[in-house]
Amino acid sequence: MKTFQITSPATGEKIVDVPEQGQAELDAAVARATEAQRAWASRTSYDREKVIRGATVYVRTQAEVIGLLMAQEQGKPLKQSVSEVTGACDILDYYAAEGLRIEGYSNPTEATNLRSWVSYQPVGVCGLITPWNYPIALLAWKLGPMLAAGCAGVVKPTPITPLSPKAFCEALITGGIPAGVIEVVTGSEPELGAALVAHPGVKKIAMTGSTATGKAILAACAPQLKKVSLELGGNCPAIVCGDADIDLAAKVIAYKAFRNMGQSCSSVNRVYAHESVSEALAAKLVLEAQKLTLGDPVTEPSCDLGPFTTKETREKVEAHVGDAVAKGAVLLWGGKRPEGEKFAQGFYYLPTVLRKVPGNARCLHEETFGPVTALAAPFSDIDDALARANDTEYGLAAYVFGRDYATVTKLAEGLEAGTVCVNNGAVNTAYGPYEGWGDSGFGVELGRRAIFEYLKTKHVKVQL
Ligand code: NAD
Repeated sequence: MKTFQITSPATGEKIVDVPEQGQAELDAAVARATEAQRAWASRTSYDREKVIRGATVYVRTQAEVIGLLMAQEQGKPLKQSVSEVTGACDILDYYAAEGLRIEGYSNPTEATNLRSWVSYQPVGVCGLITPWNYPIALLAWKLGPMLAAGCAGVVKPTPITPLSPKAFCEALITGGIPAGVIEVVTGSEPELGAALVAHPGVKKIAMTGSTATGKAILAACAPQLKKVSLELGGNCPAIVCGDADIDLAAKVIAYKAFRNMGQSCSSVNRVYAHESVSEALAAKLVLEAQKLTLGDPVTEPSCDLGPFTTKETREKVEAHVGDAVAKGAVLLWGGKRPEGEKFAQGFYYLPTVLRKVPGNARCLHEETFGPVTALAAPFSDIDDALARANDTEYGLAAYVFGRDYATVTKLAEGLEAGTVCVNNGAVNTAYGPYEGWGDSGFGVELGRRAIFEYLKTKHVKVQL
C-alpha cells in the first residue's frame, strides 16, 4: 500500500509511514460504520453511557502512550499532550451523561383524539474532519456528542498529525466502543476529506479547520443537504480597561497568546489597552514571555513551548511580525528564532510582544496562529475599543479585563463573538457552547446543545 511520511517538527526526522488510503478504504469504512451504527443506536442511552465511560477509563491508562505520539508529531510538550488526552476523556464522559438527557416533549393538540410528541433520533454515520493544533481535543468535541447520540463516525485526521487521534480512537475501541462505531481513514491529500464529505452514506459532517476549507465543505454538503457543523478560524481581540487587574490581564493574555505556540483558534491575536495601562501591560507581557521555556517536546516534557507544528506556520508568523514592524510596530521581545544548536532543526520561534501595532498591520486583521501579542494603539474611549475589536469578519472568542461591572457588561454584550471571557481565559469548558460567528464557524460544539447537531427531530402525531 502507498504511504506518506510523518516527520518530527522538533528534529525534522521521520517518525513513521502512514497508509495512503483512498475511495476503496473509505467505502469499506463507511459500510462498517453503517452496520455498526444500527446496533449502537438500538442500545439504550443508559447502556451507551456505561460503554463510553468504560472506554474512557481504559483510554486514561494509555494517556502517556497516546500523548507521546502527539508530542512527537505535533510538537506540543509531552506533559501538555498527555493532559490533552485525559481532557478529551473528560469531554467524552460529559457527553456520555448528556446522552441520558435527550428529552423529548408532548404537545397539547387541537382535538381530544389527537396525540403529539417530539423525539430525537441519531443522524446516522458522521464524517469527522480534524486539524493539527489540538489533534485529540477537537476530535473529542465531535466524538463525545456523536457517540452519546447513537451515531457512528468515520474520522479523517489531518495528514500532519494522524498518529495520536488514530491511537485515541483505537484505544476507545479496545476500551469497549464496538468495532465499526469509530472508523479512521488516513491520507495525505485533501481529496480524501472531500470524498468523505461527498459520500452518500455519510449523513453529517463535523469539521474543525481553516475558514477557507470550511466554506468549501459547506458548499460540498449542499447537494445532499447534509447536516454540517464547522469550527473555523479566529482573530480574537482582548480589551483591557483602565481599571483592570493588570497582573491578571498579562497572565491570561500571555497564556492565551503563547500556549501551544499560539496555534489556537481562540488565541489572543490583538490587544486594545486603555492609554493609562498600555505601557504597564506591555512590560508585564514581556516578563511573561521571558519566563517561558522552549524545548524538545519529548525529551523536555515539562517545557512550556515546543516548535511550531509546520514550517508554513512559522513562515506565516514571521511574515506577520515582519509586516507589523515594517509598518511601524515596536518589537519589545522575541520576533526571531531562538539561537543554539538545540533549536537548529526544529520549527522554533520565540514568544513575541509587539507594541504600537498600526491599524493596517496584517496581524490585526488575519489569524496569526503564532505566539505573538500585538498591542494596537491604546484607546481612551471604550466605544472606540469596541469598534476596533469588532472590525473583523471573524467572531470566535473575545476577552475583556476590567472591574467596573457596567463597562465589562457593555463590552461583553457588544463584542461580536460567540464566546466572551471576562477576567479569565477559560474559553473551552464542556458546558460552554462554542459557536463561531461570521467567518469563525457554523453550528455549535461543546455545551448541552451540541448533541443536537448529531440528532434529527421527529414529530409523531397520532389520531386515536
Ligand atoms: P485545514 O482547513 O487546512 O484542514 C482541516 C482539515 O480539513 C484537515 O483534516 C484537512 O485534511 C481537511 N481538508 C482539507 N481540505 C479539505 C476538503 N476540500 N474537504 C474536506 N476536508 C478537507 O486546517 P488546519 O490548518 O489543519 O487547522 C488550522 C485551522 O483550524 C486554523 O484556521 C484554526 O483557527 C482552525 N481551528 C479552529 C478551531 C475552532 O474550534 N474554531 C479550533 C482549532 C483550529
